[in-house]
Amino acid sequence: MASTVTLLRKTATIRMSDVAAVASPATTMKSLLMEGGNGGGGGGNVAKRCCERKCELVGYDALPAFLQHNEFILHYYRSEWPLKEALLSAFALHNETINVWTHLIGFFVFLALTVCAATMVPMETSVPHSVTSTGLANCTGKGNHRVLMTSYSTSGAAVAMQALIRRNVSIYVEPELTAAVVLSSSGEHGPVERWPFYTYLCGTMFCLLMSSGCHLLACHSEHASYVLLRLDYAGITGLIVTSFYPLVYYTFLCDPFSRTLYLGSITVFGAAAVAVSLLPVFEAPELRWARAALFVCMGASGLVPIVHKMLVFGARPEAVVTTGYEVAMGVFYLAGVVVYATRVPERWMPGRFDLVGHSHQLFHALVIAGAYAHYHAGLVYLSWRDMDKC
Ligand SMILES: [Zn+2]
Repeated sequence: MASTVTLLRKTATIRMSDVAAVASPATTMKSLLMEGGNGGGGGGNVAKRCCERKCELVGYDALPAFLQHNEFILHYYRSEWPLKEALLSAFALHNETINVWTHLIGFFVFLALTVCAATMVPMETSVPHSVTSTGLANCTGKGNHRVLMTSYSTSGAAVAMQALIRRNVSIYVEPELTAAVVLSSSGEHGPVERWPFYTYLCGTMFCLLMSSGCHLLACHSEHASYVLLRLDYAGITGLIVTSFYPLVYYTFLCDPFSRTLYLGSITVFGAAAVAVSLLPVFEAPELRWARAALFVCMGASGLVPIVHKMLVFGARPEAVVTTGYEVAMGVFYLAGVVVYATRVPERWMPGRFDLVGHSHQLFHALVIAGAYAHYHAGLVYLSWRDMDKC
C-alpha cells in the first residue's frame, strides 16, 4: 500500500489555483499533493503524461457535467483519470476514498459472514435422552464432533430455546459450549432450505461491491460512469429485493400462496426498478429525491409481509425478534436515504466535508448497519424453521 501511495504522490499533482482555493480542511492533504507536484517531475513518460493532463485532483467547477453530482463537495475530485490510475487511487486521498472503502470493507465482512454460515455444516446424530437433533455446527468449529446443533447467534439460540422450553421439548446442552444448543424434537426433518438466506447474503455482497467499484472507477469516463451507476442502482435494488427472501420464505414456509405472492411481487418490482434505472434521465441530479423515493417504496412494501407475519405468528418469540431486527434495518435504511437525499452535513458547510464526513459516507455506513441487522434476523429465521417446520 505504501508503495502505491508513493506512486500516486509522484503521479498526482494539483493546480496551484485549486490549492489556493481550498480554504479547509486537511492541510496535510494539500501538502501531500503539493509535494507530489513538486517532486514528481522525474517519473517516466506515463507518469509525465498523467501529471500533465489527467491525474490531478480538481475542483467541482472543473468537472465535466457527468461528474457533477454534489455541488456542496467543492474539491479533491478525480476527473477522467486513466483506468489504472483510477484503480490505484483506492490507496490515495480524494473525496471518494472513504466511499470506496466503507463498502469494500463491508463486502469483505459479509463475505466472512457467508463463509462462516456456509461452514456451519448441517449435522444429524443421536443424543442423550433419545432426542435426535438437526442443525449446524458452530462456525468456530468448537464442539464440532459432539454437538447436535449450535445456534447461529446468541439471540437466535435464546429465542429458539425459549420456544422449545415452552413446548416441553427435551433439550440437551453440551456443557463446554459457549452458545446454546438447539435441538429438534423430530429427526424426520432436515435443516430448512438455506438458499433464501444465501441469496440475501449474495445480494448484499453484490450491492457493496458494485457500490465500491462505482465510486472508484466512475471518474474514468462518461461511459464508465453510465455503466457503473446502473450497476450501482442494480446493486441497491438487489439488496432490497433479496432482503425480502429470508423474511418471506421462512415466515410463510407453510403458506405457499403468500410465499409465492410476496416473493413474486418484490422480484417483479425489483426488475421494474432496474429497468427504470436504465433510463439516462434517472441519474439527473435533480431526480435525487425520485431515486430515493423509488428505493423507499420498494423497502416500504416489506411492511406488508411483516404485518402479515405479526398477525399470524405474533405470539412467537421468533416473530417478535425478527421483526425487531427488521424495524432496526428499516430505521437505518430510512436514515440513510434521508441523509443521501438531503446531503447533510455538507450543504451546511460546503467544502468542509469534502474528504471526511459527507452525506454519502454516512449513507454507506447506515446501509451496512441495516444489512447487518437483517443478517441477524436471518439467523433467527433459520433457528426457528430448523426446529419447527410445517
Ligand atoms: Zn455510494
